[in-house]
Amino acid sequence: MSHTKRRPGSPYDIPARDIIGRPGTQRFVSEMFPAPAVLGTDMIGVPEGAEVGLELSLESVQDGIWVSGTVTAEAVGECGRCLDEVRLTVAAPIQGLFELPGVEREDEEEEPEDVYEFDGETLELEEVVRDAVAEQLPFTPLCEPDCPGLCDQCGARLADDPDHTHEKIDPRWSALQALDVDEPAQKKES
Ligand SMILES: [Zn+2]
Ligand SMILES: [Zn+2]
Repeated sequence: MSHTKRRPGSPYDIPARDIIGRPGTQRFVSEMFPAPAVLGTDMIGVPEGAEVGLELSLESVQDGIWVSGTVTAEAVGECGRCLDEVRLTVAAPIQGLFELPGVEREDEEEEPEDVYEFDGETLELEEVVRDAVAEQLPFTPLCEPDCPGLCDQCGARLADDPDHTHEKIDPRWSALQALDVDEPAQKKES
């Protein structure tokens, strides 16, 4: 049963030799493993070591293997407005043809989408997974869609204190305050 043994290396590598050349044969893969590296960006991503789930269907077709399914993981990031932690459950669709070497395409001018190289032994899914997850991640993560962010004057978190305001000093009073400074002997207003 050598074909079921995981080649040492990337957990994104799925052995698939067993269904090559048997068009119509389908096999399901269900894997769960810690992410060997961050998936995503500095703003938000699936941290290294966080659990990544793969639920895939591998279908043997004429030119290789048609892979479809879902990658699930939890991304962690920072709200772009209030800097709070943001956690986002990602369930990203995956699909693509892993094409056997030497397959000739009729129209070589158009680079087809969703076609990946395949050595006939192992499906190397890292790139597909990485792209699928990245596509689901927001460019600017937010803790809440209407996160009010931070007070631009004192940095307080406005979601905790919606009525947060700073007293606007009337210009006339500031003029008096300036006098105050000039006359330290004067009694302070209570
Ligand atoms: Zn926020
Ligand atoms: Zn403030």
